[in-house]
Amino acid sequence: MKLTLFEIAGLAGGRILRGDPGAVVTNFFTDSRCAGPGLMFVPIRGENNDGHDFIGSAFRNGAAASFTDHPMEAEGPLVLVEDCRAALQRAAEKYRERFSLPILGITGSVGKTTAKEMAALAIGAGHKVWKTPGNANSQVGVPITVCGLEPEHTAAVVEMGVSMPGEMERIARVVKPTCGIITTIGTSHIEFMKTRENIMAEKVKLADYLKSDAPLFVSGDNDLLSSLDSGGRYRIVTFGLSEGCMWRGTDLETDSGGQSFLCRTPDGRTQSVRLPAPGSHMACDALAALAAADWLGVPLPDAARALAGYIPPKMRQVISQEGGVLLIDDSYNASPDSMRSALGLLAGQEISGQRFAVLAGMRELGDYTQQGHLETGAYAKELGIDTLIAVGELGEIIAEGYGPGAICAKDNAQAWELLRELLRPGDAVLVKGSRGMKTEGIVEKIKENH
Ligand code: ATP
Ligand code: MG
Repeated sequence: MKLTLFEIAGLAGGRILRGDPGAVVTNFFTDSRCAGPGLMFVPIRGENNDGHDFIGSAFRNGAAASFTDHPMEAEGPLVLVEDCRAALQRAAEKYRERFSLPILGITGSVGKTTAKEMAALAIGAGHKVWKTPGNANSQVGVPITVCGLEPEHTAAVVEMGVSMPGEMERIARVVKPTCGIITTIGTSHIEFMKTRENIMAEKVKLADYLKSDAPLFVSGDNDLLSSLDSGGRYRIVTFGLSEGCMWRGTDLETDSGGQSFLCRTPDGRTQSVRLPAPGSHMACDALAALAAADWLGVPLPDAARALAGYIPPKMRQVISQEGGVLLIDDSYNASPDSMRSALGLLAGQEISGQRFAVLAGMRELGDYTQQGHLETGAYAKELGIDTLIAVGELGEIIAEGYGPGAICAKDNAQAWELLRELLRPGDAVLVKGSRGMKTEGIVEKIKENH
């Protein structure tokens, strides 16, 4: 991006309080420690902190300019706006309108980052792709992603996360996706959305800007998405493993480094795919990526070849052998949906020993907390997981769902003490919990000691 302060003030509906109107800004940032030349600071008012308190530090760290929502003294160029986050969104929205490239918007309860990385790889086989850096899928991350668009890009893949009603409308207006993916509708963020139907209604707003021939790729395996009706406003294209999915994966075969499967297209083509990541849900994310790449004109064999280079991100269902023990490290985060996929992965491992699941609680489930944890435990039991070690207070509810035989640990340290007594070569262990539970500590212990 290359915008002058004058242009930004115009785009964001603000007024320059201080500084050279011709000064050039190349993007925005929100963490004052991450300042850099050309970057403009966006002070966000959060629950605990007010970004305005850090404007001085942003300038000392080299920021080129800053928004502010009230007149103030500062050591650098300032643009006065009513609401800094809305100003960022408005500037990004206007900046996006300068581009006519295809943009794939990706949302869903889980699998967004996975599908984003896979889609960027597959589409990258035929395009110069811009993609969301890391997991920047928020009300702030999305506009900053959009401001990274450059004329050299011929396609973009943008991860779009929502946790409150109204959020998709705002970021969809910024991104204006020309096609979209909804990976799945589960229960993440149900605390604020109340029902799964509300979650779907919110996510589907991603498609508000699609043209009538543009596809919204949705999971045909998902109970809610499989019966989605666009009322003719855009095309619904299903992907998944169930019969009837338009882009369908069949003949899944697990191997040591991941899996392979056959991708069947709606027009009768078949393409063999090798994916260096395990789990049928990963195959689904890959099918969505292939379908999107095909729509964007990438030859299917090229897109499939690119997917063979997929590298799973750290702490997200990464399988390794630790001295004879098969470890599934999924310690990055947890929701009921990813708990299910991870437990399914554990159950599907061919091993000679026992299966252990070390599961900590899930945050942000609100009224669904009790049910979500009970169901996770019950699912572990249903899949025949031999031993469940449940960590922390919320873990106790998982243990209750599992029933007799579940072991409760008060914290990670105790979970490890219990586990080290029980683990034998030939066993498999899954470690998973909400980000705040820091279950990676248990993973480290397993790695150190095997
Ligand atoms: P966040 O809301 O944190 O951005 P996300 O939607 O980007 O999450 P990922 O980071 O891609 O989700 O994946 C989260 C977890 O869910 C990982 O453990 C991953 O392996 C698993 N996962 C990925 N795709 C799916 C899917 N389609 N269905 C169920 N689980 C999935
Ligand atoms: Mg993500």
